[in-house]
Amino acid sequence: MKNVGVFYHPSFSRKSYMTVGNRLRDFPEALEPLRQRPNVRLFEAPRVSEELILKVHDPAMLELVARDGFCSTAYESVGSVVAGMTALAQGEIDRAFCFIGAGGHHAGYGQFWGACCFNDVVIALTHTREISRFRRFAIVDTDAHHADGTSQLIREDPEVFLLCFCGVDYQAQGGGEVDVNVQRLNRGADANSQYLEKVRQHLPLVQQFKPDLLVWYYGFDTHEEDYGSVGLTEAAYFAICDLMINTAAELNVPLQVVLGGGSLSHIATNTIPEIIRRLAEA
Ligand SMILES: [Zn+2]
Ligand SMILES: [Zn+2]
Repeated sequence: MKNVGVFYHPSFSRKSYMTVGNRLRDFPEALEPLRQRPNVRLFEAPRVSEELILKVHDPAMLELVARDGFCSTAYESVGSVVAGMTALAQGEIDRAFCFIGAGGHHAGYGQFWGACCFNDVVIALTHTREISRFRRFAIVDTDAHHADGTSQLIREDPEVFLLCFCGVDYQAQGGGEVDVNVQRLNRGADANSQYLEKVRQHLPLVQQFKPDLLVWYYGFDTHEEDYGSVGLTEAAYFAICDLMINTAAELNVPLQVVLGGGSLSHIATNTIPEIIRRLAEA
């Protein structure tokens, strides 16, 4: 049985950046049944230090983020992802689900947009290298949008592999990034299976990279009702989850799920507890 850590902060529900949808309004209550499980632990996300942020970002970012109302949860959001990855690297848990209130993958060295503030995953892996033997990280990004900030920050880093399902087909020289266009799938009844086929086709790249840890950047804005729709339904997310679990299991490495975009509370409530349940059972 795998030990699962769930990283959460009350501010993600009360003042999440997605104020219109208030997408996490059913949390943490929706996690209550999972907390009965002996192998699922809920942790409160700490604030990340400025010192750690500045190992990844331009110092000017601190002021820009402080002025942006959408970034009110930025420090706890990065703290959630850092704490999750740290616990995985130290072997305290095997799998993690990290909630966030402000996103990460559109945050580059000196700029951010699209409801992102600091790059949570890159800050976390920078820290993890300092406190563990972990060096190599694979990021599978199934948010609807291109992970431009992450792409910029890892470009010179041969020990990070980004597999990004977005709106372009692209392969970086040297192989550190592969982008797969999923915007032109035939939407409708077949969207889930077409999307999943794209994921399945490209997961061998993650296997070949042999990461020490696998990150799944889980945005549900790809849902047919949400703002980045590629026509998916909830079933697609559970199938992707199982693919990620299997990939991490075959590599024998920890799996970290990091929440990305998506605005609708019923999709969050219908998918997140079930994803955590799968992390705890498979
Ligand atoms: Zn997105
Ligand atoms: Zn991309």
